[in-house]
Amino acid sequence: MRRWNGWGDENTLFPFPDSAARYLAEQIGQGSSMTDAPFEQVLAFVPASRLSPHPLIQTDPAVRLLHARGHSLSDWVALRSGRMGAFPDGVAYPTGDQDIRSIIDYAQNSGARLIPYGGGTSVVGHINPLPGDSPVLTLDMGRLDGLLDLDQTSRLATFGAGVNGPHLEEFLNPRGYTLGHFPQSFELSTLGGWIATRSSGQQSFHYGRIEGLFAGGHLETPAGPLDLPLLPASAAGPDLRQIVLGSEGRLGVITRATVRIRPLPEREAFYGIFFPDWEAGVQAVRQIVQNGVPISMARLSNPLETETNLRLSGKDSLVSWAKRGLGLLRYGDQRCLLVIGVTGDPATTSLARHQALAIARRHGCLFTGTMIGKLWRKSRFLTPYLRNTLWEHGYAVDTLETAVPWSKVETTVREVLQAMDGALEPLNERVLAFAHLSHVYSDGASIYVTYLFRLSTDPDQTLERWGRLKSAASRVILSQGGTISHQHGVGLDHAPYLEAEKGPLGIGLLQSTAHYLDPDGIMNPGKLFK
Ligand SMILES: Cc1cc2nc3c(=O)[nH]c(=O)nc-3n(C[C@H](O)[C@H](O)[C@H](O)COP(=O)(O)OP(=O)(O)OC[C@H]3O[C@@H](n4cnc5c(N)ncnc54)[C@H](O)[C@@H]3O)c2cc1C
Repeated sequence: MRRWNGWGDENTLFPFPDSAARYLAEQIGQGSSMTDAPFEQVLAFVPASRLSPHPLIQTDPAVRLLHARGHSLSDWVALRSGRMGAFPDGVAYPTGDQDIRSIIDYAQNSGARLIPYGGGTSVVGHINPLPGDSPVLTLDMGRLDGLLDLDQTSRLATFGAGVNGPHLEEFLNPRGYTLGHFPQSFELSTLGGWIATRSSGQQSFHYGRIEGLFAGGHLETPAGPLDLPLLPASAAGPDLRQIVLGSEGRLGVITRATVRIRPLPEREAFYGIFFPDWEAGVQAVRQIVQNGVPISMARLSNPLETETNLRLSGKDSLVSWAKRGLGLLRYGDQRCLLVIGVTGDPATTSLARHQALAIARRHGCLFTGTMIGKLWRKSRFLTPYLRNTLWEHGYAVDTLETAVPWSKVETTVREVLQAMDGALEPLNERVLAFAHLSHVYSDGASIYVTYLFRLSTDPDQTLERWGRLKSAASRVILSQGGTISHQHGVGLDHAPYLEAEKGPLGIGLLQSTAHYLDPDGIMNPGKLFK
């Protein structure tokens, strides 16, 4: 069963050893755990629904509580402390376009606000109901989860937008295909959510981001249905698919989507490569990408992330063996780990491995083969479970991300981490903040920052710590000209920063598009922009 106040399935655990707990205590102090509010207690806070009856809408408190929050840090604080704020007044479970039309009509007539809900894995407040006079209706897309069409000649597959990652691949894999979109939230997130947030999968360098995979589909909007035809390319004016991508539920409900699929790869491998320092690693990765080496992913951790991941991995004997070996080879504290992937046919994957290694060796790398890569692959969707473990040990963990041109990568990483390192000093608290390059492009890279700090027994203090860290980092990101989000979207948390990126005219353009399709402002108000 899915955890109601944490990540994933209740039966999946990610324990870490005493040595990891000791490491965190040394870095940021002993964790102080909060007592979780029990489900029944939080349920008692769910107020009476303000919605009139409708055959597709459920209003029982448990369903409403389970759809009230996503996975941002403030969502977790709310769920664990029981201080929830607003709840949706009801949850609808449509099974097709007709149902969605009927729900939109109902909302227009009753003044309700609609929140499309995919897997609820948003980390920036996308699916949270806002307090106010209007009732809020959450639209759970989970029943629109079938494979509707497979055009093998064109390699296009059409799904209901509520299909989640594992289910989508279960349809494709036995037929010899894959979408290859693997965000870390793959287990729970959905195709509609990926499109609505411009999501990025871990092997985006090979398969592409969702923008490249989304070939067309269908939306139900308050102004009527909108078809996005399946055109491989078009010069007929601006591409409407680009407006739907990242629309965060503001323009309408994506009911089905067609995606570009590929044959399952014949071969795939992930390798671990150490560099003596961050600068050498960044240069090597940039040259690998800019030389067109056909890798599928490159994930380069900075020294502190390399060290912390080794410590939290729970593989104590492996870690001490690796550290001894690296020490003997004169890889000191500044060593950085690159996990690199190759995906495709045997000739391409072996060429990619050969070319990538040749470049990495010019930057003093140590190639360690597939052992680290195999561990990474095994835990690629398990790592989010570490959030549960950390919380139980009294630590909050959150992430933030941006993308900048290569010329700004090193400065941005340095300045973001520096700003975060000092952000909790006035509160006499410490932070453990580290970074990796997670997605790479010929002109730049995304920077993904993970940060841990101690929870307070007072939820407001925990939120204050988080707010200071988040705003310190966001200010630096903007000052460096980085995007406020490379892959998580805008939602509530990034909305105040969006105008700096789009400009007032750009925001106006987005607002007027939303107003054209949704004149009464019923679709997910307050998210993305006002
Ligand atoms: C542990 C963890 C790891 C993550 N890793 C990644 C990662 O590697 N890459 C990445 O890109 N993101 C990642 N995320 C963020 C999140 O998973 C993505 O934003 C994802 O795309 C959200 O999908 P969802 O189905 O859960 O959408 P939800 O969270 O349910 O909704 C997100 C937004 O999309 C809208 N929406 C959803 N479905 C529809 C629809 N059918 N029609 C219209 N609007 C819709 C919602 O209204 C909302 O505004 C991670 C999150 C967590 C918690």
